[in-house]
Amino acid sequence: MIISTVPRIEKTEANETQLSHAFRISGFALTFSPVYESLGTTPKASATTAGDEVLPSSRPQYAEVAVPLHVPQTFTYRLPSSLRSTAQVGARIVVPLGRQLVTGYIVKLCVELGPGMSLQESDIKNADEILDAVPLVTPEILRITHWVSEYYAAPWGEVIKAALPPGISPTIQQFVSITPKGQANIEKIAVAHSATIRNRVLLLLAKPEETSLEEVSKSVGSKQALKAIRELEKEGLIERILRPSSSFLRAKHRRAVRLLKSDDTPIEPKGRKLTPAQRTVLQTLANTELMPLEELLAAAKVSVSSVNTLQKRGLVEVFDQSFRRDPLAGADLPQIEEYELTKAQASVLRQIEQPLKDGIYAPFLLHGVTGSGKTEVYIRAMRVALQLGRSAMMLVPEIALTPVFSRRLRAHFGDRVAIFHSSLSRGERFDEWTRVKNGTARIVIGTRSAIFAPVRNLGLVIVDEEHESTYRQQDSPQYSGRDTAIVRAQKESAVVVLGSATPSLESFHNARTLKYRYLHLPQRIANRPMAAARIVDMRDVFDRYKKPRVFSEELLRAIGETHERREQSIILLNRRGYSIFVLCRSCGETIQCPNCDVTLTYHRSERVIICHYCNHREAAPSRCPNCNGQYIYYVGEGTEQLEEMLKKLFPALSIARIDRDTTSRRHLFEKSLMEFGEGRIDMLVGTQMLAKGHDFPNVTLVGVVSVDAGLALPDFRAAERTFQLITQVAGRAGRGDRAGQVLIQTYHPNHYALKHSCAQDYLGFYTEEIRHRQNHAYPPFVSLASLLVHGAERNRVRSQAIEFRKELDLANKERACRVLGPAPAPLAKLKGEYRIQLLVKSRSRRQLRNVVTNALDALANRGFNLRSINLEIDPVSIL
Ligand code: ADP
Ligand code: ZN
Repeated sequence: MIISTVPRIEKTEANETQLSHAFRISGFALTFSPVYESLGTTPKASATTAGDEVLPSSRPQYAEVAVPLHVPQTFTYRLPSSLRSTAQVGARIVVPLGRQLVTGYIVKLCVELGPGMSLQESDIKNADEILDAVPLVTPEILRITHWVSEYYAAPWGEVIKAALPPGISPTIQQFVSITPKGQANIEKIAVAHSATIRNRVLLLLAKPEETSLEEVSKSVGSKQALKAIRELEKEGLIERILRPSSSFLRAKHRRAVRLLKSDDTPIEPKGRKLTPAQRTVLQTLANTELMPLEELLAAAKVSVSSVNTLQKRGLVEVFDQSFRRDPLAGADLPQIEEYELTKAQASVLRQIEQPLKDGIYAPFLLHGVTGSGKTEVYIRAMRVALQLGRSAMMLVPEIALTPVFSRRLRAHFGDRVAIFHSSLSRGERFDEWTRVKNGTARIVIGTRSAIFAPVRNLGLVIVDEEHESTYRQQDSPQYSGRDTAIVRAQKESAVVVLGSATPSLESFHNARTLKYRYLHLPQRIANRPMAAARIVDMRDVFDRYKKPRVFSEELLRAIGETHERREQSIILLNRRGYSIFVLCRSCGETIQCPNCDVTLTYHRSERVIICHYCNHREAAPSRCPNCNGQYIYYVGEGTEQLEEMLKKLFPALSIARIDRDTTSRRHLFEKSLMEFGEGRIDMLVGTQMLAKGHDFPNVTLVGVVSVDAGLALPDFRAAERTFQLITQVAGRAGRGDRAGQVLIQTYHPNHYALKHSCAQDYLGFYTEEIRHRQNHAYPPFVSLASLLVHGAERNRVRSQAIEFRKELDLANKERACRVLGPAPAPLAKLKGEYRIQLLVKSRSRRQLRNVVTNALDALANRGFNLRSINLEIDPVSIL
């Protein structure tokens, strides 16, 4: 959890006191109130959850509210009588928090204060407004977000916010305006000439327009303004108005026109003739059900007055039509082919269908090499879910993959597919979400946050490429989309299928220990051969030339031969930019980022050096900034330089580069991929984003320039990631009828991850890797929490880390956990902050959470600021 996002309410001392008497502030408590925990499972007698019948006498008086701020607890508010009849669990509610008004979510309604709540009646503030008559958050989403917040120690309100389309929770602005009674008062003030704060406020408001609270605060001071406004409001001299900020999302409407009667049956008694313009309008409408007004005016080439007259005469109707922003509008859909499933596919499908038909929870791991027909199985299984009247979701790891999949699904399922991913416009996301919520769309495809789609009657969840680290959300709230999918399926009695050619160690382990059912598609469709991957030992190349070379002769020869056969190639290197670092020959210094503990990368096309972590950039120096020496060297090749070298070596080839530098211009990325697909580009050079998903049948060579940087990462998943990368890459070559080859250049040819991936031996790799995990006590044999202490002052960070270690040891008296560190994080400085890491491991997840929670609580009680500690449960990487 990132504790550094500071809610504004906590910034000043005055506010803190205000808060602490109104709400339970228990430092950083990972534990929530007992009421909070009981949600959805065992509702207390005094509570009503959505759908319960409420007797008039037991109308809820209090609402438990989760706010989308970085506070661990929920807050209790009193519902004024005007809100009691409308309040529903899952609705958005506007509540005061400190000096702000925030939009939160009702997670529980209570008739009386529960015994577990350490709250006094007088501490409780009134809620201001309820924003939804129909709750936005469905009971299922409330339940799964609650689980996420508990498991990952993330604020519930933040998780709910992440589950809703962005922009749906408006920030609330407060306005004040004077009442008639107030107006009358002003006249008295004018006579009395008294300049109390109250009077100054009243005078300020003595105009017809509303005045924003901000403006009032500015002119009389915010603390006094609030007090005065509260008093004046109580006395009925002014009133407060809440307005959502203008960016608030809603359904989009447009004016549309439809024909009521044609002109053959004039209803006008006087029989006034139609003008030619009016006649054209009626003719234009004659063959359509309805037409957007704008389109009609353009098509008929008339002005709006003709349409208005027709409406007055009862011949047409002009009305507001809500219309859908469709992310796939106008997209070319692929042809669907109805294959007969292979025996293996059919058997896999049968096993998935059974629990789906029985309506029970069942988790599957579908292990199938690329091209083995997994996607085809997913589509059939989704169809079964639909036939059973249930919904289906499919998660994919990356945006780059979504267009392909979503078009394939749209071709199969038409409008019943909704698409969720972050590169859609806000409007599109809102509309897709609405279609899911109201049941129009029953299939969802999207990236990790799509797991929170409000589908009803969930039957099937598919997580494709389940091993991908992109399923992990790195910003707060941190969660794994894949693991959340498992839990959601369990809670809603659905079937979940994790699919991969290279399952994560955890998932395969779960299959071996029978937590998941194992499904296997070992062969490609039509027994197409897998590409042969081969290691090129760069130590030999070095021996031959006595200096490092970027390309081995073998790779160069393969490139030449591939293109002589008019086939295509992909060259990968996991480093963008031109040179990896800049070195001064005189003093030996490299140029470092001023904010991070990394060297700056040279980008030649822009003539700048850039930090790949914080994006700090400066002009490329001509002299050493350290010693003013003039022998500046650029060392190590990035993709930009590879492209240049390859263009020189193979002038006849048309070569394009794909990495984060080129993909920031989205259309360029799509254009390159399209041209490559059409064969107008011969070679793609890029980072590993090229290794995934794309299907180019004419690619018969993939060259990996170096995997050594990836292997050397100080992370327990380094070998697994490298294995996955190479297996993925091998899946790219030879998708068509021709066999492909993969060449991997390395200085570590004997590494087990490389050997097993070249032999396509998943089981061999798993067996070796799982032994390492067991011997060194890493997941899946232990649960892991990473705790990162960070801050701008090195000494403070260090001493806080040391104190933290002491508290962890105290909390860990029973020795249920192993605590490692503090040690400088692999990235010891990032974005101007020093970073020190502690790792906690335990065989018992519960114990792990207890120890971490207790240590954090103890630190908080001693007055430490916990915002400088990031807690990550099940981190995907410990870098
Ligand atoms: P995966 O998802 O495992 O990579 P796909 O489902 O995309 O595999 O299938 C690989 C290719 O084989 C696709 O072009 C697909 O259209 C085709 N395919 C899938 N199943 C069959 C089948 N039963 N018969 C013929 N072709 C198939
Ligand atoms: Zn930096």
